[in-house]
Amino acid sequence: MSAPVSPAEGVWARVIGQPAVVAELRAAVADPAAMTHAWLFTGPPGSGRSVAARAFAAALQCAEGGDGTCHACRTVLAGTHADVQTVVPEGLSIGVAEVRQLVRIAGRAPSQGRWQVVLVEDADRMTEQASNTVLKMLEEPPSRTVFLLCAPSLHPDDVPVTIRSRCRVVGLRTPPVEAVADVLVERDGVDPALAAWSAAASGGHVGRARRLARDEVARMARKAVLDVPLSLVSLAACLDAADDLVTAAQEEADEAAGSLDGAETEAVKASLGYGARGPGVSAASRGAGVLKELEKRQKSRATRLGRDSLDRALVDLAGFYRDALVLDSAGGAPPMLMHPDRRADSEELARRVGAEGALRRIDAILACRVALEQNVKPRIALEALTVALRLPA
Ligand SMILES: [Zn+2]
Repeated sequence: MSAPVSPAEGVWARVIGQPAVVAELRAAVADPAAMTHAWLFTGPPGSGRSVAARAFAAALQCAEGGDGTCHACRTVLAGTHADVQTVVPEGLSIGVAEVRQLVRIAGRAPSQGRWQVVLVEDADRMTEQASNTVLKMLEEPPSRTVFLLCAPSLHPDDVPVTIRSRCRVVGLRTPPVEAVADVLVERDGVDPALAAWSAAASGGHVGRARRLARDEVARMARKAVLDVPLSLVSLAACLDAADDLVTAAQEEADEAAGSLDGAETEAVKASLGYGARGPGVSAASRGAGVLKELEKRQKSRATRLGRDSLDRALVDLAGFYRDALVLDSAGGAPPMLMHPDRRADSEELARRVGAEGALRRIDAILACRVALEQNVKPRIALEALTVALRLPA
């Protein structure tokens, strides 16, 4: 390998606020003899697990160790490199059919790159059967194949220990707020004051910070969520708030799903020969099955997007009660807040519910997240929650 790129350059510039991780990955790229065939990228939501894994994949395929400008780097980052297979769960889980296909490819020698890389985002969503298929491959990995699995560190048990024990674990941390703000200014051209606000308001979640900085609708949605706690003065207000939260999450998900679905359906129809003159008889009967399958997949994805959107709102809410809790318990030094721009409101909340009341409400939010994960209907779970969050008279 010729002159190695510096940590702040090339593909590594994308990995924000993780100098230790970058150093470890660069060392692995520099010494192919010591290469590990399975890696597990863990870290809290928004820490950039899949970004780090993809940068690593690019550096592995690049003759310069990840300069970020060559054909290999660019195609890996764009997701079009022939020797980097990516699995992103679109529905609620990654099934065995998806994984089997991948494992077949993983068994081959790389066609042009240096490695055959398989990147699984949200590996915690693999079904048991899918996990077993991956495990079989990890037990005897082909010499040029590298598995990069990503999973949130909040649920380490979601990745079976049999898989984890075969992986080298890379732990990402929540990037510092300043590092996130810098990236928004330098890469996205965001105004420094707005960048600082967005980075602080998202608690170092890079993707969230970028959305808050760029999208007025996202800022309004966050405000609506954080306005909820002090609005819960009556049973009617609680039910209204639950309705608003569910509706907002559904609208956000429908919009995201709609933009994905349309293009996808068109592409599938085109591939089936649905032209201006309409499909032939055989294409139509063949197409009906394919389109039905696609519809099923899109429905599953819409459900997941809705759940993710609602979960983001619940995380914001929990952060708000957590702020009230630390403000009520803080002695000397001013505490670090999750929502520093809403300090006056969390102080007011602390006065009204106290530390114990805030703690009880955080528990209620966590219970609501569990209920949603267990498929309780969102409206029912949210109504139970907002009633539990109601302010004392
Ligand atoms: Zn390169």
